[in-house]
Amino acid sequence: MLKGYLGRMRIRVACRDGAGRCGDLEIKDRMVSIPNIIYLHSKRFPSPDFAEIIGTLDGRGKEGKVTIDFSPFSERIIYPASMPPSFHRLIEEGDLCIIPSNLEGEIPDIRLRRRIFILANLVSIYERSRIFVKNLVEARERVGYNSILYAPGVADAKNLSLLIYLGVDLVDSTKALVSARKGMLFFPEGNVSVEDAGKICSCPICEKFEDPEDMGFEDILLHNLLMLRREMDRIRFFISKGRLRELVETRVSNSPELLEKFRILNDEFYGFLEERTPIIKKERLMACLRESLDYPEIKRFRKRVIEWYEKPRCTKILVLLPCSAKKPYSQSKSHGMFKSSIKGCGNTNVIHEMIVTSPLGIVPRELEMIYPANLYDIPVTGRWFGDELEMIKDMLARYIKRNRYDMILSHLPDDLSALVEEVLGEVVVTCKGNPTSKESLENLRRNLKEMVSGYEHVSREERLIDDLRSISSYQFGREVAEKLIMDGCEVKGKYPSLRVFWKRKQICSLSKERGLISLSLEGGRILFSENRNIVEIEDVDIKGSVLAPCVKRADPCIRIEDEVVIKREGRFYGVGIARMNGREMVDLEYGEAVRLRHHL
Ligand SMILES: [Zn+2]
Repeated sequence: MLKGYLGRMRIRVACRDGAGRCGDLEIKDRMVSIPNIIYLHSKRFPSPDFAEIIGTLDGRGKEGKVTIDFSPFSERIIYPASMPPSFHRLIEEGDLCIIPSNLEGEIPDIRLRRRIFILANLVSIYERSRIFVKNLVEARERVGYNSILYAPGVADAKNLSLLIYLGVDLVDSTKALVSARKGMLFFPEGNVSVEDAGKICSCPICEKFEDPEDMGFEDILLHNLLMLRREMDRIRFFISKGRLRELVETRVSNSPELLEKFRILNDEFYGFLEERTPIIKKERLMACLRESLDYPEIKRFRKRVIEWYEKPRCTKILVLLPCSAKKPYSQSKSHGMFKSSIKGCGNTNVIHEMIVTSPLGIVPRELEMIYPANLYDIPVTGRWFGDELEMIKDMLARYIKRNRYDMILSHLPDDLSALVEEVLGEVVVTCKGNPTSKESLENLRRNLKEMVSGYEHVSREERLIDDLRSISSYQFGREVAEKLIMDGCEVKGKYPSLRVFWKRKQICSLSKERGLISLSLEGGRILFSENRNIVEIEDVDIKGSVLAPCVKRADPCIRIEDEVVIKREGRFYGVGIARMNGREMVDLEYGEAVRLRHHL
């Protein structure tokens, strides 16, 4: 039995998605999964056999289960928000710590880490979405990565995925109990009263009843616990696939109160989500709803294109093209046709192709192999939502302020060309109806031929160097890109497998799989001298990976899958790929922080 003191506690995170994480929690010598459900246990309502963790309020434990005894502070976990301010205070009891959620959403500074933090009083602020989300986000930020965050009293099968996406590690069965009292059955699609349930459920409990109205309190409770558990299994699966947000979108989409919380999270806490979102994922991103515009990786892509990216310097003419269902775009039939028309004009290297699309806005051709541009799907109806159009307009306007062209040509369908002209003024429009019609393609070729004739010929190599610098600017920002890809460097290989040399030393290469720049040791030195993405480690021998306990300091801007450089004994030591974000690798005491590629 754990009365406050949990003894040795260790968190092993195996997969992450948003603030949601999946792995193991070691308490004393037992291992339990996270995220998980604490099943309340008492003489009257024993916890189900499948429970891994039980919580007791009457001091009663259960053989073979991890038991947390909440009896010393049971009245402190769920209480009315209107209690006097003196009641809202931090309570520490061994390895448990109660932090009071509150109407201001201000979570006090927490010095001690490595414990289970209970965010008390959430039930009473649940309906006030902004305050609720703010409390959870702040609590997650305050307790850090190496602690467990427990949100008591609020979980049901429908909101569970959102709670986990917000960074909750543990929930409990309180609401399942309270709902069972009211005759409400849990479902991930929403709760249903037993009176209306009919034949809605075929779980082992419900199957025993011809009419759900005959179900007793304990049957309903057991159904609810089963639904919670099933949803938790799904959540763990979706986290492991990097698709938790997709599950959250389906769960919140028919509930105004959940959608409200989800939108507030997206609008007001982008930084919180972005820090926890890898640079690269292997799963296809399904951008189905209006909310999909707010995927943190999509917002980050747009932000970097506007704020970090620099167009290939030798390009003078911007050609705007429609997107294709197939990704990368250049592998589609339509883009094959565009390409041959563009090639037909002669001096192609002064032309910069850019794809106009939703939810990414605009995608420069050189970035089409980078996640999420290489791996997203949208429903295509030929009609655009107002939000999408506004986003594209805003992005184009901001992009063109930082990237100048002599001429702009739109090979987009009429509605998008009109939108472009609203932002950029009059442009040459070459698409007549269908962009792949013979007439449209010939128009494109003829107009470009005329446009490029005034420019000196630009060589393929010069263009490749500029393209690589543009990719670097998206990845590291303009300043680093300038140092990494210098004028006069040499490019070897066949696109997209390219290697960059400076004075015969390899600086970096373009990774076909990642679409991004991979650094050699020489390239790592450049990043190191620019003071970017540095992970400072203890003076220990490293084989293959840097483990989290060895990390002393790390650039908080590091994201999972970023290129990072290792600093040891004050000096440059090697380069690798981040497997955790910067703050996480400092906090956590277990797991691979960096996979080394080269070291001295
Ligand atoms: Zn059932």
